[in-house]
Amino acid sequence: MKILISVDIEGVAGVYHSQQVRAGNPEYERARRLMTDEANAAIAGAFDAGADEVLVNDSHGDFRNLLPDVLDARAQVVQGKPRYLSMASGCELGVAGMCMVGYHSRAGGRGILAHTINSFAFAGIEFNGQPMSEASLYGALAGEHGVPVLMGSGDDVFIEENRALFPHAAFVQTKRATGQNSGVSLSPKKACEAIRAGVAEGIGRRAQARPLQLTTPLDVLLRTQTPALADLFCQWPEFERVDATALRFGARTVEAAVRMLNCCSAMSAMLR
Ligand SMILES: [Zn+2]
Repeated sequence: MKILISVDIEGVAGVYHSQQVRAGNPEYERARRLMTDEANAAIAGAFDAGADEVLVNDSHGDFRNLLPDVLDARAQVVQGKPRYLSMASGCELGVAGMCMVGYHSRAGGRGILAHTINSFAFAGIEFNGQPMSEASLYGALAGEHGVPVLMGSGDDVFIEENRALFPHAAFVQTKRATGQNSGVSLSPKKACEAIRAGVAEGIGRRAQARPLQLTTPLDVLLRTQTPALADLFCQWPEFERVDATALRFGARTVEAAVRMLNCCSAMSAMLR
């Protein structure tokens, strides 16, 4: 049994501030170590539950945060960008399930470091009128490949948003949000213990878990942070301007929608 573990950083215990998630300062160097420790806890949980192969997907920022020399040597790691399946890379490689570690709630919410894909560019994303988070976007992308989400960890707002979408998954709360940049966290040690147990529990329930399947084709609504970003994205002829800061487009599959969104995210670097 092969298991995919996708690891982001904003939901990791002890992480609250943008400095901790942005490369180039000592706070980030500590936070990426905490992220790697939670990845290792998840890897251990997968092997506890009978996995014989584990793929770890580095799913934050430029996708090269996990410290390869500190990662459990039994796992293989997917790093670097761009890549078509982004935070779900590896789900095309015959995995039995996906675990989401260190995830966070969607843009516009009150969760710790809440955002969707790109906090500079995107204010919100809807698929067929439903607000999407990174967990629902990439859970649906994995679902398109027949892969169910088995486990998720992050703050209480992340869990609230996703419990109904992945009803058989095991959720682990690493911290409770009291604001975008504040909350109450488990110690990293306790968070790792809970993640290890949660991954094993989620894998244990995999027979009941179903891949998340969205109705396609998708009507995608993208709300941008500024009118200038919407001006830029609407250079793409398939995009229809809705208002100053919103545009919409159609996509045949979740993968097509995710790839178009990630192209917009890359384009937005022009306006930084
Ligand atoms: Zn992230």
